[in-house]
Amino acid sequence: RLVTLEGVDGAGKSTQARLLAEALRAAGATVTLTREPGGAPGAEAIRRLLVEGEPGRWSALTEVLLFTAARRDHLERTLAPALAAGNVVICDRFVDSTRAYQSAGRGEGATAPRETVDALHRLCIGRDPDLTLVLDLDPAEAAARDGAAKGAETRFEAFGGAFQTRLRAAFRAIAEAEPARCALVDAAGAPDAVARRLRAVVFARLGI
Ligand code: C5P
Repeated sequence: RLVTLEGVDGAGKSTQARLLAEALRAAGATVTLTREPGGAPGAEAIRRLLVEGEPGRWSALTEVLLFTAARRDHLERTLAPALAAGNVVICDRFVDSTRAYQSAGRGEGATAPRETVDALHRLCIGRDPDLTLVLDLDPAEAAARDGAAKGAETRFEAFGGAFQTRLRAAFRAIAEAEPARCALVDAAGAPDAVARRLRAVVFARLGI
């Protein structure tokens, strides 16, 4: 099964993906832990094009194409083999990040149409997650967390600003529109408390 984690920058996705993988392994599952953009050598090379260039290097539509290309490589090299082997695959970000960042987050006039993101996803990926965990957190709280607090910036702005507020709304809308696939989980509080919330959702939904 494919389980994805989504949410604003600083929501704790990477930490929670790791804790969830540990819990599932302890329960006897074979787990593949991976991330996007990246998760395979070619996809990691595309990630560098995306995150290391100067801001504004790519238009939103070009970014969608690059993210989708990276996702296709990740699918072929990592996701499909792991899923075929029967592993539980935990992926830190997936297509919902492209929907939120490139289609909603950038704001008026600078976004790629949601239909384009969805059409490319159908054409090039053709697989939805079995479960998407949307980590919901006030961007101001995300900004106050370690790592985010050291003056770090996302690709677009400082943590916690208006862009992140639009992202949060976009992720919440996705979770609301697809309740069978998505679970909106409160990501406030200590990592252990959030991990317990996520475990309860995952174990119930996957029947573990
Ligand atoms: O989640 P991670 O920190 O690995 O993401 C790398 C960078 O790419 C972050 O700055 C994130 O905001 C950005 N990103 C993006 N569009 C996506 C996914 C991630 O701009 N679809």
